[in-house]
Amino acid sequence: MIASVLPTYNRAPLSFVKGEGSWLIEADGRRFLDLGAGIAVNALGHAHPALVAALTEQAGNLWHTSNLYHIPQQEALADKLVAHTFADTVFFTNSGTESCELAVKMVRKYWHDKGHPGRVDLIAFEGSFHGRSSAGIAAAGSEKMTNGFGPLLPGFTHLPWGDLEAVEAAITDHTAGVMIEPVQGEGGIRPATDQFLKELRALCDAKGIMLILDEVQCGMGRTGKLFAHEWAGITPDVMLVAKGIGGGFPLGCVLATEEAASGMTAGTHGSTYGGNPLACAVGNAVMDHVADEAFLSEVNRKAGFFRQKLEALVALHPDVLESVRGQGLMLGLKCKAPNADLVQAGYVSLVATVPAADNVVRLLPPLTITDDEIAEAIERLDQAASAVARQHMSEPA
Ligand SMILES: *Cc1c(COP(=O)(O)O)cnc(C)c1O
Repeated sequence: MIASVLPTYNRAPLSFVKGEGSWLIEADGRRFLDLGAGIAVNALGHAHPALVAALTEQAGNLWHTSNLYHIPQQEALADKLVAHTFADTVFFTNSGTESCELAVKMVRKYWHDKGHPGRVDLIAFEGSFHGRSSAGIAAAGSEKMTNGFGPLLPGFTHLPWGDLEAVEAAITDHTAGVMIEPVQGEGGIRPATDQFLKELRALCDAKGIMLILDEVQCGMGRTGKLFAHEWAGITPDVMLVAKGIGGGFPLGCVLATEEAASGMTAGTHGSTYGGNPLACAVGNAVMDHVADEAFLSEVNRKAGFFRQKLEALVALHPDVLESVRGQGLMLGLKCKAPNADLVQAGYVSLVATVPAADNVVRLLPPLTITDDEIAEAIERLDQAASAVARQHMSEPA
């Protein structure tokens, strides 16, 4: 008999009932160190006092009004995002996949209104992830996500990761833009090089097409800058944001330049919940913390500490681990043993991690993780890697 919850996930046999900072407490009382943060969502950890206060205060005042009216919390958050980024304007969604939908609509509408209705094609990359809607799965293009779901939204081309010549060759009179994650998350923590992003920006400029960045996972301070593209010194025309911006409350957005957004006039797009008062009350509190320079420099300092310890861990477990990759607190352990075994052994050692493609284990802790917790994480990962080594080695150590 089918489970009452549609069984589209292979869930670990764990049920968490409470969260405190970097810690998740299981129904049986065990305390897990959370290096997944809800897949890069709980940017400020669990039950952060500022977020709890923002949410409960708003909950006592007003939950929802619809976008038929002005929403002051939404305007405040949009102002902050505009002040801190390339963007001139922001549309709020409830998730990354909805942000992807709007980004695709926005660039197509832009070219339509400019008198180039044939410019509808988008170039994307192998190994990418842009969500689970029809546009999202077409954009990512992987067989695993698209198989069986009927005709795909047309207009997407998929090119090898980091291949600028392939991009140049693929651009035609029908190309509307290029969509890319500056650091691939689901694809296995694969950062695009600064050089590649710079060249891609220059190429889009030369060809007069749009650059759309998906920073749903790598944005909101995750890499040690507010947004990952800042490392490369470039700006996009359109950007997808979600995950971290709500700190655990469902919230996403699309940021755009005035030019890129020029087709999106009244009536062209909407959302019942997008940017509602509750979500934006939390989003404002997240933004106030994460956009702070001192907070970001702490993320970078801790990331350096974590990375150094992870490099040492790889050296200690050459049969299980291959290398460390990523940027800031968006880190990946490329494994030699199956990554699922390390995730599993992590559960036994009370540390939660997230698998990704390319046999990588993702480490996406709350950005508020402390040095002591990083040291503790390393001990638990060390234990887990030793368990995997014992499991896989025919010879006893
Ligand atoms: C998670 C993710 C999405 C989809 O976000 P949802 O909120 O799950 O819809 C899109 N793009 C990237 C890069 C992601 O990591």
